[in-house]
Amino acid sequence: MAMTLTEKRARRTERAESKRRIEQAQKETRAIVTTGICPECGSGLQQNLALTGWWQCDQYGADGFRKDDSKPACGWQGFTKDRRTTMRTTRETQCRS
Ligand SMILES: [Zn+2]
Repeated sequence: MAMTLTEKRARRTERAESKRRIEQAQKETRAIVTTGICPECGSGLQQNLALTGWWQCDQYGADGFRKDDSKPACGWQGFTKDRRTTMRTTRETQCRS
């Protein structure tokens, strides 16, 4: 079923809006990472090397995985890069090797 011009326009606007939101979130995460302090609990931050640009609070995760088990867990995490781009790059790397 062919889309009308109005539907095409709406879809394009949606995509642009979604891209803008992602970029805004990444910009905010970059600013937080620069401070090195979790915006939710004030702990430090660490980079999760599983994905490029993935940052998490030092207190992220279950007992034994956090930096300090005596403090409560914190769920803050953020991305400074586009996850989709990162995953595509990873797949390309695997194909070459
Ligand atoms: Zn935190």
